Amino acid sequence: MSTAQILADHTTARVGGPAAEWTVARSEAEAVDVLQTHPLPEESVRATGQDTLLVLGGGSNLLVSDRGFSGAVLQLAFSGISAEPIGDDAVDLQVAAGHDWDSVVAWTVERGLCGLETLSGIPGAAGAVPVQNVGAYGSDVSETIVQVRAWDRAVGDAVVLTNDDLKFGYRDSMLKRSTISGSPRYVVLSVTFRLTHQPGPALSAPVRYAELARALGLDPTAEDSARRAPLDQVRRTVLDLRAKKGMVLNAEDHDTWSTGSFFTNPIIAQAQLATLPERTPRFSAGTSRDGQALVKLSAAWLIDQAGCGKGFGLPDGPELGRGAAGAGLVGGRAALSTKHTLAVTNRGEASTEDLLTVARAARDRVRDTFGITLHPEPVLIGCEL
Ligand SMILES: Cc1cc2nc3c(=O)[nH]c(=O)nc-3n(C[C@H](O)[C@H](O)[C@H](O)COP(=O)(O)OP(=O)(O)OC[C@H]3O[C@@H](n4cnc5c(N)ncnc54)[C@H](O)[C@@H]3O)c2cc1C
Repeated sequence: MSTAQILADHTTARVGGPAAEWTVARSEAEAVDVLQTHPLPEESVRATGQDTLLVLGGGSNLLVSDRGFSGAVLQLAFSGISAEPIGDDAVDLQVAAGHDWDSVVAWTVERGLCGLETLSGIPGAAGAVPVQNVGAYGSDVSETIVQVRAWDRAVGDAVVLTNDDLKFGYRDSMLKRSTISGSPRYVVLSVTFRLTHQPGPALSAPVRYAELARALGLDPTAEDSARRAPLDQVRRTVLDLRAKKGMVLNAEDHDTWSTGSFFTNPIIAQAQLATLPERTPRFSAGTSRDGQALVKLSAAWLIDQAGCGKGFGLPDGPELGRGAAGAGLVGGRAALSTKHTLAVTNRGEASTEDLLTVARAARDRVRDTFGITLHPEPVLIGCEL
C-alpha cells in the first residue's frame, strides 16, 4: 500500500484530488486481499457516496472530486490472456481485469480472431468493459462476452456471472446498475469473450456502422457477406476515424484529455419526437416494456444545435461559451473538444469542477432548447453534475 497518490495522475481527464490509501494490485490474489477487507457497506452508506473503496482501471470513465477520495483506491494492474479453442471456428479468451483493453483488441486482430475489431482505440482496462457495455462503431462487448468472474462484496466470494446474468443494455449492465454512487457490489476479476475465426483471409464481422463502412469502401446497405473487410484494415480505419475525433489518447492533444463521451445518447419515446425539429437525427431503439416505440437521439447533435459547438468554453469558441470577459467559460481551462461536441476536455490546468461547469452549461442549454435532459456517461465520485 502506498499513500499520497493523486487521482489526476491516474485519470485520462487528468483531474481529481488525493486518495487516503492506494494499492496497486499486480495479481488477482493481491486484489482479493484488499477486497476482503472492504465488504459492501449498507445501502444507506453507499447512497451517500461513502464507500471506503474505489476500484480503478485506466481511469478513462471516471471523474473524482477535487477534494479527492477519503477511502482506499484499489488499482487493478494484473494482466494476462489465455485462449481455449471451442470447436473448429471459435476461441474463448479469458482476459485478466487489469489488461489494457486496446492491447487485447490488437492481440485478437493479430491472430485473426473476429469480434472485437471495431472496439479498437478505446482506453481503459478489460475489467471495466462489461461495466458499461463498452461499444463503438456498431458493436458492443455484450455480443462477445460469455461470462465474467467477479468478486461479490455482498457475500465476500468470487462468483461467475453469465452473459444473461449481466443483463446488458445500451452503455449499461447489471454491474453498473448495482453500483450506487460509485460504490460497486461486483468487482470484475476476469472476462471471457467468445471470438470466431475462419479459414482463409481474416475478415471482420459485417460492418454495421455507415461511417465506418464508407471509410472502408464498403456499401453500408449491402448484404452481410459484402460488408466484411480484413480485420487489420478495420482496426486501422477505426483508429484513424477515432483520432480525427480526438477519441484516441494523445498526451500532446488536449482534445483527448477527457473521459470520452461525457453524455449518453438520450433514448425517448417516438411520440416525443413531435416536440423536436423535423431534422433531428434519430435511430430506432426498439420498444419500451409497455410497448412504446423508442428512438435514440444524438447527444452530440443536440449539444451542437443548442449553441454549444466544438470548442465551446474557449475564448475563441462558440459565442455562448466565451464568458462575460471573453476569457472563455472557467477562463478557458475546460471546454468541449475542438473535434467533437460530446467530449468535455481539460485544456491543461482544469479542475474537476471546471469540467463539470462546462458540462452543466451544455446540459442546461440542451434542456432549455429541446426539453431533453442529458445524463453523464462517466462515473462521478464525490461530485455531481
Ligand atoms: C478518449 C476516450 C475515448 C473513449 N471512447 C469510448 C468508446 O468509444 N466507447 C465506450 O463505451 N467508452 C469509451 N470511453 C470510456 C472508457 O474508455 C470506457 O468506459 C472504459 O471501459 C473505462 O475503462 P477504465 O478501465 O478506464 O475504467 P475506470 O475509469 O477506471 O472506471 C470506470 C468505472 O468502472 C469501475 N470499474 C473499473 N474497473 C472495474 C472492475 N474490474 N470491476 C468493477 N468495476 C470496475 C470503476 O470503479 C468506475 O466506477 C472513452 C474514454 C476516453 C477517455
